[in-house]
Amino acid sequence: MKVVRYYVPNSYDNYNHLLIDPDSMRAMVIDPFSKTQTLEMVAAFGATLDAIYLTHEHGDHIRAAGPLAKHFNLPIYGNAKIPLVTQPVKDGDEVSVGNQTVVCWETPGHTFLHTCLYGSDEDGIPFLITADTVFNAGVGNTHSGDTEVLFQSIDKIKDLLADHARIYPAHDYMENNLRFARSLEPGNKAIDLWLEKVKQTDAESRPVTEWSDELTFNPFLRLDSAELKQSVSERLSRQLPTDLEVFSSLRKLRDEW
Ligand SMILES: [Zn+2]
Repeated sequence: MKVVRYYVPNSYDNYNHLLIDPDSMRAMVIDPFSKTQTLEMVAAFGATLDAIYLTHEHGDHIRAAGPLAKHFNLPIYGNAKIPLVTQPVKDGDEVSVGNQTVVCWETPGHTFLHTCLYGSDEDGIPFLITADTVFNAGVGNTHSGDTEVLFQSIDKIKDLLADHARIYPAHDYMENNLRFARSLEPGNKAIDLWLEKVKQTDAESRPVTEWSDELTFNPFLRLDSAELKQSVSERLSRQLPTDLEVFSSLRKLRDEW
């Protein structure tokens, strides 16, 4: 499966994704923001748009789904409770793109309806469209979800995902997230290294990270780092005896960052 990531120039810094089956050139778009931009991208690859997938119900993720579906009579996959969805999916369900398939992983927390998409790319490398569950160097907010539920979803991803899997978040928050990470783990050289890399890129050319990269700098995946735990504990002036408390405190500090 070919994975195409493209930046959506708006104030939310969204990334949209196309999955293209190279044999049939059938494509599925994930969380389309703009009808025009989606169709331009599909045309640029000479593909035919077959389906829409919605990772969750937020406005910036479903914006162009209705107009695209209506115009081309396309099915919309996603959690059954998302109003536009015509093809409900549950954890473990396969979704076809041409002759290939991707698998739905239920990952509630950012919202209760959030799902990720797991597959294998053109190089045979596993990938996860993490959307607003895992960002580069961060995780989604839980303003319309629940932090403990997100913690459990991240734990599930940690259990299931191979280290060399490629990660595709739905927003470009990497630089700010890395600055937040550095404020908590100033001794972590990986953070400096990636911050340097990121400064030399723009939203279009941002590096695609592997899960093993995220494990070196993403604070929400580094709950066992003594330096991180101490920083968080000091900022909030309290002990954090469990991983969940470290995670929730990190989420709170990031909200205020
Ligand atoms: Zn969202």
